[in-house]
Amino acid sequence: MKKKLMAVIMSVIMTGSMLAGCGSAAGGAAEGGAKETLTVGTNAAFPPFEYVGDDGKPDGFDMALIKAVGDKIGMEVQIQDMEFDSLVSSIGGKIDVAIAGMTVTEERQKTVDFSDSYYEAVQAVIVPKGSSVASADDLKNLKIGVQLGTTGEFIADEIEGVEVSAYNKAVDAVNDLINGRVDCVIVDKNPAEVFGAQFSDKVDVLSGTDFDFEPEFYAIALPKGNTELADKINGALKELKEDGTYDKLVKQYIEE
Ligand code: GLN
Repeated sequence: MKKKLMAVIMSVIMTGSMLAGCGSAAGGAAEGGAKETLTVGTNAAFPPFEYVGDDGKPDGFDMALIKAVGDKIGMEVQIQDMEFDSLVSSIGGKIDVAIAGMTVTEERQKTVDFSDSYYEAVQAVIVPKGSSVASADDLKNLKIGVQLGTTGEFIADEIEGVEVSAYNKAVDAVNDLINGRVDCVIVDKNPAEVFGAQFSDKVDVLSGTDFDFEPEFYAIALPKGNTELADKINGALKELKEDGTYDKLVKQYIEE
């Protein structure tokens, strides 16, 4: 009997402190006006969505978007730069949410929830200048470079006869393409175009329908079951689309 009473008291105390917003990511602004922190994981090696800016801090479309979301929901965004492959498993631990040009996949949905999608993407193929690769069939039996744990890797793994090399950073795959260690790189189209411009004398970027790549949808990865946080973030995304902030950021970071 005594034990049961203690349990009830403990749960009342715990509920009370959660309502006061102590450390709960979904709590919103804490008492006294101090903003609560939303710790956001990313992998700042995926331009134009995230990259290390001139000041050494993560910058890019996703960074600007999540900061705008933070402003809308009254939370202080703190960015944690980490390996892409560790993001999903770190949610609910080291980080509260992740934004990293991350495609919604069924596999990831076993571990995390996703916000509404904020960008439609597709894979592209980077080849050395003058390569004869032009269609899905030409990818068979090639040495393919990808970024570890990405949809580019999952797609490459399905192609017949290929040898897949996975790198922590997509740009390292591009460097190995230039060095002749891989025959092509499969990576999301927007970063592929940035790398293509960076190494324009050495590589070409192929995209489009010839490779039969499916559309992919980027979203913010969220802790599973936290509908309160999901609702807030989705509400903020909707407002940012309606008030023109989203379009402004697309122009500034993606279409510039
Ligand atoms: N969109 C891809 C994925 O989710 C790649 C993301 C990335 O490398 N940052 O797997």
